[in-house]
Order: sequence, then C-alpha cells, then structure tokens
Amino acid sequence: MGAVGFTTSIPVEILLAAGSRPVDLNNVFISSPQAHSFVRKAETNGFPSTCCAWMRGIYGVLSTVEVDEVIAVVRGDCSQTQALMEVLQMEGTRVYPFAYPYDRSSQAMEGELRKLREHFHVRQDEVDEAKRNLDRIRRKLNRLDLLTWRDGLVSGEENHRFLVASSDMNGDPWAFEREVDAFLEEAAGRAPLPAPEGLRLGYLGVPPIWQDLYRKIERPGVRVVFNEIQRQFSMPYLAPTMEQQYLEFTYPYEVFFRLEDIERETARRGLDGFVHYTQTFCFRQIEDKILRQRLPNPVLTLEGDRPEPLDARTETRIEAFLEMLQREKGTATAAGDGN
Ligand code: SF4
Repeated sequence: MGAVGFTTSIPVEILLAAGSRPVDLNNVFISSPQAHSFVRKAETNGFPSTCCAWMRGIYGVLSTVEVDEVIAVVRGDCSQTQALMEVLQMEGTRVYPFAYPYDRSSQAMEGELRKLREHFHVRQDEVDEAKRNLDRIRRKLNRLDLLTWRDGLVSGEENHRFLVASSDMNGDPWAFEREVDAFLEEAAGRAPLPAPEGLRLGYLGVPPIWQDLYRKIERPGVRVVFNEIQRQFSMPYLAPTMEQQYLEFTYPYEVFFRLEDIERETARRGLDGFVHYTQTFCFRQIEDKILRQRLPNPVLTLEGDRPEPLDARTETRIEAFLEMLQREKGTATAAGDGN
C-alpha cells in the first residue's frame, strides 16, 4: 500500500499495521523551503485569505505529495477541516473523516478506532504490534524530553523538531528511530547548555508557522523546556491500549483537559513563564483568554500568520517579555545575544 496523508495526529498504528506510509501534511508543508508557495497556491485556487495559513498550506502541499487518500480530522482539531475535506472530495481526492469524541468516552473512541481499522482491513492484534513498536520509539522521545528539561543537554528547538516529527515518525518509523538513537547518543555526550538556572519557558499552542521562533527566544540563560502540543504528538504517557492512548492525548479535547497537563508539567519542570503561540484566523485564539487566566506564570501571546521570518515587532515583544521575567526572577542574562 502507498502513503496516507492526514491533517493532524491520528492513530498511525493502524496505518502502519496496514503497511501504509503515514504522512503528516503539516510537517511536509512547514519543512518545505517552498512553504509560502503552497499558501499562495491555495489562494490562487480560491481559498480565502481569511482561512488559516496552515489549512491553505496543507491544501497547497497536496499537489506535490503522492497519497492514496487523506484522513481528515473533522472533530478535535480544526473548525476549517470539514470545508477542506469537501474541496478535496470535489477535486477527486479520497478522504476519510476521523472524529475524536467530544465527550472523551472510551465507547466512542473504541468505535472510531474500530471504523478506522476496518477501513484499512487490519486486525486488532496487528495494530497492537504496531503500537508496541512505536512505544519503543516513544520511550526514547521521553528520554529526549528528559534530557531537555532535567539535564539541560537538548535545546527547546531540538526538542520541538523531534517531537513534532513524531506525529508521522517522518513517514518511516525505523529510520526515525535510528535518527533519534544517534541524536540521543550525541546529546548524552554534551556539556549541559549554559546557565541551567536561567529562565525556563513553556511553549504552548500549535507548532509555530515561523521557522526561526526558537532561535529568537533561546539564548544563554533562556531556554524552552516544555513544548506542550509537540510533546502530545509523541504520546508520552505510554498508555497500555489504543483507546487509552488516544483519550489521554490532550490536543483534540477541551482546553481544561490540556490545562491539567500544562499545570502538571509547569510544576515538574519549574517553568517561569509561557509563550503561547496562536495562529491568525484560528478558533484556538479564543482559548488564550482561558490560558492567561488560569496559568500561574506570565504568558506572552504571539500571533503568526504566514511561513516567513519573525517580524521585528514580535521580536521586540519577545525581548521585553524576557527582560520582565529576568527582572522578576532576578537573573542577569545576556539578552539578545542568542543569534
Ligand atoms: S492553526 Fe487553528 S485554524 Fe489553523 S489548521 Fe490549526 S487548528 Fe485549524
């Protein structure tokens, strides 16, 4: 079987059990040097400019990747996916709708997983075997995360890069595992990054559309030690069953469930503040209000639109936020010398 694209994390174990290659269309879009051209292609084909650039990018990138079908997550990800799915269907792409249950009930999740399994003609024991194999890689990603926040050996940007890739394991889990192994070996031999006692930040929200954001934040004395959603993509809890795993995955569910994870990790990782990334035209921007009200530490809310370098105004806001946190924490760090 060939490749299967998807619009956000789905139970990849089922695809792998069927012998398909998982392709997270977001990752293909954002890792391409032509990312901006995919957004423009969607606009040329009639997508409104008030539609989120990730959505336009996913549509645009589909003209360059060969997939047998697309799994569109119609509940639990994006309010715009249904319309994207309809456009793709009209243009002749096979689309399968997957819905994370709003009520997080085991029964509803079991039903969704069974439907997906039947669609790909695979048995439960084949899926369980795929899960065992992926869990081995997920344990290694948990170690990579530990090297980030506990040991100071891995930067927030490196952490982001590996965890975000775990949604489709770069389309080839075994090659990805070798890459993780090599990275862990190299990282274990590093000296800890400078000033582990400096600012410890959490990154909240969907992955950034700006490719240089981490480079603008991290520097000696300032590190991102928690990547919320990227970590969720890596399924860090190692739940014993498929149902449990995809019910513990916080991203598709209500913000209060996400907050439980954020609050737990804030305490565990000793976070000083948060950068909350929001996307222009995304409904999740509304949830910023809840995060700001509920979180114990300062939150800097950023808004990105297109895949382009960070703008000067946002950079200035980051500098001001870091200075404020440094004053509060009483740390003297080399602001602005991280590039
Ligand atoms: S950033 Fe928001 S609007 Fe854009 S694809 Fe993701 S969930 Fe949808």
